[in-house]
Amino acid sequence: MANRKVCKGECGKNKLLNDFYTSLSIMFDGHVPVCKKCLKDMIDENNIESVKTTLQRIDKPFIAKVWKSAEENESDTVGTYFRMINSLQQYKNSSWADSDFEGENQTDIYKHKFDDIDNMDEITTDDGVIKLSKDIAMKFGSGYTNREYLTMEKFYKDMSYSHDINTPQLKKQLVYLCKLQIWMDRSLESGNDSAFKNYNDRYEKILQSSGFRPIDRKSASETSGLLSFSQLFEQVERSGYVEPKPIEERMDLVDMAILAHLNYVRQLIGHERLANLPADVSEEVNSANGVLLGVESDEG
Ligand SMILES: [Zn+2]
Repeated sequence: MANRKVCKGECGKNKLLNDFYTSLSIMFDGHVPVCKKCLKDMIDENNIESVKTTLQRIDKPFIAKVWKSAEENESDTVGTYFRMINSLQQYKNSSWADSDFEGENQTDIYKHKFDDIDNMDEITTDDGVIKLSKDIAMKFGSGYTNREYLTMEKFYKDMSYSHDINTPQLKKQLVYLCKLQIWMDRSLESGNDSAFKNYNDRYEKILQSSGFRPIDRKSASETSGLLSFSQLFEQVERSGYVEPKPIEERMDLVDMAILAHLNYVRQLIGHERLANLPADVSEEVNSANGVLLGVESDEG
């Protein structure tokens, strides 16, 4: 009968057309191939990627703001979404290509996306992608989430680039540092101040005894070479900047220069040469010493 069709989904039942969502897609016969119930089972309504994949398969649009309204119906977000998208005049003829993701980050489902962060299995760093492996888990021991393993591995790598870690003892110390960082994070998040302080003290001790402090870094030329002024300044700031002593001006030389100049002018107009700088000029020059340097002169 024309008012029934067989579900291509999990149930495989012959059902009333009413049990299928309508679709204007040329790929389908007026209804999507999977019944409403099976479609709902296909979608993990807490996983935005699952929602999108399913909508794409049945050629229905993802409209972020409609999804957001549907979320207000907490019991049946997916069902509400389909009802809205199929009945609202501006969307009922829309296909996947008409999807509108604007406002997506305001939806609850989008926020859920980051609940899974503890289960991620790779992270991207400036030095490439770190993939979670058995070796990493072996290195740090059990009891950590994927995110924590990757965080530790990233820190381990960063430290290896900037420090000489060439003995088994140092490697072990570095592993302890990585773990202590995780424990510090955990105690911070749970508001356990005394645990945090305890871990932090141990962390500082290992830093000092193992030569992992910033001041113990490999010299810049050893790691990567200095490529730009900004790197140079960064290095200087990291190592601590010591202001050099101000240059002391040699006033005798200035005196000599003025004397030579005066004698040249005097010679031009037929006067005798002077053996010394006139007292008033000398005094003026000397009193300027220190003023010019920004400090009081203690000589003369
Ligand atoms: Zn079905």
